[in-house]
Amino acid sequence: MAQIQVEKLRKAFQDLIAVDGSTFTVEDGTFFVMLGPSGCGKTTTLRMIAGLELPTEGRILLDGEDVTFRRAAARDIAFVFQLFALYPHMDVAGNIGFPLKCQGVPRDEIRRQVHAAARLLCIEHLLASKVSRLSGGDRQRVALGRAIVRRPKAFLMDEPLGALDSELRHVMCGELRELHDRISATTIYVTHDQLEAMSMADRIAVMNSGLVEQIGTPQEIYDRPATIFVADFIGSPPMNFLRFDGAIGRGDRSVRLLDANIAVPEVREEGAHGSLALGVRPEHVTLADDAPIRGRVFGTEYLGTTQIVTVDVEQSRIKARLPARHAIRPGELVGLNFRPERLVIFDATTGRAIESALYAGGGRG
Ligand code: ATP
Repeated sequence: MAQIQVEKLRKAFQDLIAVDGSTFTVEDGTFFVMLGPSGCGKTTTLRMIAGLELPTEGRILLDGEDVTFRRAAARDIAFVFQLFALYPHMDVAGNIGFPLKCQGVPRDEIRRQVHAAARLLCIEHLLASKVSRLSGGDRQRVALGRAIVRRPKAFLMDEPLGALDSELRHVMCGELRELHDRISATTIYVTHDQLEAMSMADRIAVMNSGLVEQIGTPQEIYDRPATIFVADFIGSPPMNFLRFDGAIGRGDRSVRLLDANIAVPEVREEGAHGSLALGVRPEHVTLADDAPIRGRVFGTEYLGTTQIVTVDVEQSRIKARLPARHAIRPGELVGLNFRPERLVIFDATTGRAIESALYAGGGRG
């Protein structure tokens, strides 16, 4: 398998900068997910790595070798598309074995490899079936089988589960990750779905408008977001933001906001002033009668063991994830406490998280 390095990769389509100087390394055997909203440049990045699109600037290295201008067929990388791109007139075995047939591999060897891939994907019983009769999940398994028999150095997957319904997506996410663990193939997987990314990735690159905003493990991205964009994109509901004007500096352990002193992780940089935002995840909000920040309950959403309680606090709307057993009524006046060691302060002008004790373990990517 392979290490993939992307250096200052840039792609412009006339005036539109689709990818704006991405740099990252996907280590050998890693399941790396590129996550971001539609149009942020994920597919374009993947197509450049595959050799289907030429970069405007930058380099792509496969196991240390510069492949930036090498054609796709010579890169030894398998691309698995969202649309299954199977040949409807062939049976499953024919589809899986097609790349080997193109390479002139002897028939017996093709049969052996097709069976091995089908066994890995638990679709041996379907080898003689026409692909047009298969379910969405099985078609996706066939597409994966066709990629596997090539024994590529890496797999690139562009929203491969996008066409499946949500239940099947969930099942296929588990299968894909399990398959990855068995064959340890370096994989770059593109999605706009944070749940897919969080459940499958070893590392995630969060993209926004052509830029990589943060790279890290799912937990680093969730717990220590580098920017407001990342904090808002990850999490359901996303992080809450309380915007305020003020100043903070090195060593500060609290911020003054809504006439209250709110304890925060110790600030570890020179600091910032002007427009700031305090970020708090819904599960780090608790209710307390004597809490200094007060608001009125707008509504509640019952989720079984928990509920999402929405509270209007001056100009902001804060969502708290609370145990479902708490009886809370819309219109009720409540006090809000925040778990101090989990709070993030952002410079609201640049969107950047301020360095603090929360980030002491790294993880800003
Ligand atoms: P999606 O999930 O919707 O595919 P994405 O994050 O994969 O989004 P890209 O497909 O990489 O985004 O597109 C990034 C930007 O580049 C978009 O604004 C898109 O319209 C533009 N773009 C992509 N391909 C081309 C092209 N061949 N010509 C002109 N513009 C393009």
